[in-house]
Amino acid sequence: MTIPKHDVREVFDRAIEHTRRLSPATFDQWFGGVQFDDLTDGVLSLRVQNEFVLEWVRDNFLPTLTEKIRELTGWSVQVAWTLDPALVTPIAQRSEVAPVRPRPIALRPVPTPVPASGPPSPRLEVVRRPPPPDEMNPKHTFANFVVGPSNQLAHAAAIAAAGGGGRRYNPLFICGGTGLGKTHLVHAIAHRVYEERPEARIIYVSAERFTNDFITAIQHHRMDDFRTKYRQSCDLLLVDDIQFLAGREQTQEEFFHTFNALHALDRQIVVTSDKYPQNLERMEERLVSRFSWGLVADIQVPELETRVAIVRNKAAQEGIVLSDDVALYLGQMIRSNVRELEGTLIRLAAKSSLTGRPVDLAFARAEITATSPPRAQTISVEDIQRAVCHHFHLRSTDLTSKDRHKSVAFARHVAMYLCKQRLKCSFPEIGRAFGNRDHTTVMSAVRKIEAQRDSDPQVRAHLEALEKKLAADE
Ligand code: ADP
Ligand code: MG
Repeated sequence: MTIPKHDVREVFDRAIEHTRRLSPATFDQWFGGVQFDDLTDGVLSLRVQNEFVLEWVRDNFLPTLTEKIRELTGWSVQVAWTLDPALVTPIAQRSEVAPVRPRPIALRPVPTPVPASGPPSPRLEVVRRPPPPDEMNPKHTFANFVVGPSNQLAHAAAIAAAGGGGRRYNPLFICGGTGLGKTHLVHAIAHRVYEERPEARIIYVSAERFTNDFITAIQHHRMDDFRTKYRQSCDLLLVDDIQFLAGREQTQEEFFHTFNALHALDRQIVVTSDKYPQNLERMEERLVSRFSWGLVADIQVPELETRVAIVRNKAAQEGIVLSDDVALYLGQMIRSNVRELEGTLIRLAAKSSLTGRPVDLAFARAEITATSPPRAQTISVEDIQRAVCHHFHLRSTDLTSKDRHKSVAFARHVAMYLCKQRLKCSFPEIGRAFGNRDHTTVMSAVRKIEAQRDSDPQVRAHLEALEKKLAADE
C-alpha cells in the first residue's frame, strides 16, 4: 500500500504517541535523542544521536513502535538508522537535567491516557475505540503485578472479576494497607476489560470523586444524569478507597442504591478499602453487609521474596540496571509498603544517573541510611504527646481532651503534625490517639501547621525545638 506523505507523518505520530503512552516516564529521555526522517513503503528512517540511544530505542521501544505502524498500514517495518550527534528536530524534548547518557527515570508514574488527536484518515482504516477510563495508570496491568502469597487471592479474584475465568464474585471487596497494590489491581481489571471488551462501559472512581460528582449533581439539579451514569450506563464499577465515605451519610445512601441497581443487573462491582468491611467506621450497616456479599479478599504486606521480585520487576520496567544483591537489600530494608519500595528504587536510579555512580550495594546502603530517620520506629505517638506537653507546659490529658482553648488546640495540632511527619501514621490513626477525633479534623490540623511552618518563624522555632528533643530521645 502506498500512502501519501502527509498521511505517513500521521501514521508515525500516532505510533509514537502510542509508544509514549506505554512508557510515559522514560519516553522523553530517549526520544529526545531520536529524529524522524522518513517512512516510505515500510522503511522507517530514524536519525539518532549516538549508538547508545540507538541500541536502547531499538531494544526497548522499537517493537511497540513498528507493531503499531504495522497495525495502521499493514507494513512490516524495517528501520534505517543514521547517526547524527546534532539533531535538529528531536521527537521529544528532554528535561533540563537529562544526563549525557540518559538513564530512564520516573519520579512518579504519571497517568497519561490521551486519545489520539485528529480525525482518523479514512484511507488508513484505523479502528477508533473509546478512550480508556480516566485516571488510569497505563503501567498498572496484570502483567506488571507480582503475585505472591500475600496477594494471591486478591489477584485471582481480580482476574475473575475482569472475566478471565474462575468463579466471579460480586462484589469483590479488596482490602489492605496503604501502598500494597489495591489501586494497581483495580486499574488492571479496567485495562483487561477495556482490551477484551472495548464496548464495555467501565467506570473507575475514587470514593472521593464519587462524592464530589454526587454533590455537583445535587447542586446543579442533575441527579438524573448522575443516576443514569452510575446505575444504567455502567457495566463495571470500580470504586477505590471506599473508606472515604465514612460519615458521609447522604453519599452512602446514594452509593447504596447505586450498588443495588448494578448488583440486580449482575454488573460487576469492585470496591477497595484500607480496612475490612466490618472495621469501616461510620459506615451504614446495610452497606457494610453488602460489601461482604461476594468475596472479601485482603492483601497483606508481601513476603521478602515477593518484595524482591517487585523491585526487580520495577527496575526492568524502568530500564534500571540492578544487581541481585541490591534488589535483596532493598527488599530486606523496606518491608511494609510497596510504594515506598518503588520510590526508593526510583530515587536511587535518579541519583545514580545524576551523579554517575552505579547502583551498587554501597550506594544503596548509604542512600537508605541517609534518608531513613535513624531508629524512627522507636518513637511512639505517646512520646510525641509527652514531648509536646512538656514543651508547651500542658497536662498530659490536655491533648486528648475536648479543650478548644487556643493554646491547647495549637499544641494538639503540632503534636498531630509531628505524628504525621515522623511516624507516618494515617489520619484516622492519629484521630484515635487524640481523643477519637475525626480524621478530617486531623487532616486540617496537619495542613494548618504545614502552612504555618512555611510562613511563621515562631511556629518553625517550636517545631525545630521539638524535632531536636525527639531526636535526642531516640
Ligand atoms: P494502594 O492502592 O493499595 O495504596 P497501589 O496500588 O497504589 O497501592 O500500589 C503502590 C505502588 O506499588 C504502585 O506503584 C504499584 O504498582 C506497586 N505495587 C504494589 N503491589 C505490587 C505488586 N504485587 N506487584 C507490582 N507492583 C506492585
Ligand atoms: Mg490506592
